[in-house]
Amino acid sequence: MKVVLQNLTKIFPGRNKKVREEVIAVNDFTFEIPDGKLIGLLGPSGCGKSTTLYMISGLQKPTAGKIFFGDDDVTELSAENRGVGLVFQNYALYPHMTVKQNILFPLQNLRGADKLSKEEMLERAENAARLVQIDTLMDRKPSELSGGQQQRVAIARALVKMPKVLLLDEPLSNLDARLRLQTREEIRRIQKETGITTIFVTHDQEEAMSISDMIVVMKEGVIQQIGQPQEVYDDPTNLFVAKFLGTPPINVFEGRVEGGRLFVGADAVLDVPGVADQAVTVGIRPEGFVPDENGPLVCALNSVEVMGRDVSVVSTHPAAQVPAIRSIINTDGGLPTGAVVRYSLKPRKVLLFSKADESRIRFEVK
Ligand code: ATP
Repeated sequence: MKVVLQNLTKIFPGRNKKVREEVIAVNDFTFEIPDGKLIGLLGPSGCGKSTTLYMISGLQKPTAGKIFFGDDDVTELSAENRGVGLVFQNYALYPHMTVKQNILFPLQNLRGADKLSKEEMLERAENAARLVQIDTLMDRKPSELSGGQQQRVAIARALVKMPKVLLLDEPLSNLDARLRLQTREEIRRIQKETGITTIFVTHDQEEAMSISDMIVVMKEGVIQQIGQPQEVYDDPTNLFVAKFLGTPPINVFEGRVEGGRLFVGADAVLDVPGVADQAVTVGIRPEGFVPDENGPLVCALNSVEVMGRDVSVVSTHPAAQVPAIRSIINTDGGLPTGAVVRYSLKPRKVLLFSKADESRIRFEVK
C-alpha cells in the first residue's frame, strides 16, 4: 500500500492562554512512501517524528494537509478503520494474558464483515507468531519473556490484523545493544517477508540507516532530506544532515575558498573548482583522511584507538570546530606516531557548507 502525505501539518496550541506559544510539530510534509518499502523517520528528540506517525495512524488529526493510502483519502478516517498496525516503544502487552491471548486480542474485537471464526483467529495468530519466531512461547505470560521476545509479541499483535501499513515508534529503545541489533534485523526480515509498507521512527541514525529503504531526516518539524540511506550520507543537503548521520560523526572545520582552493586554517587542502571565494564550513568524514607524510592537512596527534577492525586516530587542528578530530584509517602504512600526523583528503569525503545558511556548496570532483 502506497502512503502519500500531502502538505501535512500539525500545530499544537500553546497551553499558556496569555502568550500564544503554539508548536508547529510537523510543518508542511509532502512525500510519498512507495508500496512495500520500509521508511525510517529520523531526527533529534522533538522534531515531530511521533506526531507524523500518529497522524498516519489516525490517532492524531492533522491541522492541515491530507493523507492517502493508495488512492484513498484517509485523512478523516478513524484509527480503527485505517488498517494500520502500531508498535510502540513500551510493548504494552496485557500482563495477565498469555502470549497467545495477547496476539488473539485484536482479532476478538473485529465486528461485522471482518468477524472471524475461532479457527480462523487461531490460524492467524499462529502464523503471526511463527513469523516473529515466538510460536513456541504461546502459553507464557509477558513477565516470563525477555524484552526482545516481548517486543516480538507486540509486533505479532500488530501483524495479526494484516495491516496495510505497519507503524513502529522507537520499537527498539527498551532493548540492550545486542538485542537491538538482532531485533532490527528481525524487523527487516519480517517486513520483507510480509511486504507491508512500514514506517519506522527512531532518533538513532545507525538504526535507521541499516534497515531502511529510504530515510526522511527531520529537524524542528521540517523535512531536511529524503533518500536512500547511503545517498543521504554521501550527499547531504545541509550541515545538519551531514552532522546527524555517521558514526563517528563528520569532523567540522572553519575554512575558506580562495582562487578555487580550499583552505583549512593555513593548510591548502584541496582543489574545489567552480566555488567562489568565500568563508565556508568544511565537513570531513572520518574515512576521508589518508595518512600521508606530505599531506596538506597538518594535525597534532593525540591518540590512536584500535577498535576491533578499525583504527581511529584522534588529533586536533586549530581550525577544527570540534575538540577532537576522529579519522578512521587504513593501517597498511603502519600506525601514526610522533607529535604530528599529516593527511591528504579523499575529495568525495570533503563537504562544503555555506556560512550564511548551512546549505551545501557542491564542487566538481575529478
Ligand atoms: P521524541 O524522539 O522525543 O519522541 P519526536 O520527534 O517524536 O520526539 P514529537 O513527539 O512528534 O517529537 O513532538 C514534536 C513537537 O511537538 C515537540 O516540540 C513536542 O513538545 C510537541 N508536542 C507533541 N505532542 C504535543 C501535545 N500533545 N501538545 C503540545 N505539544 C506537543
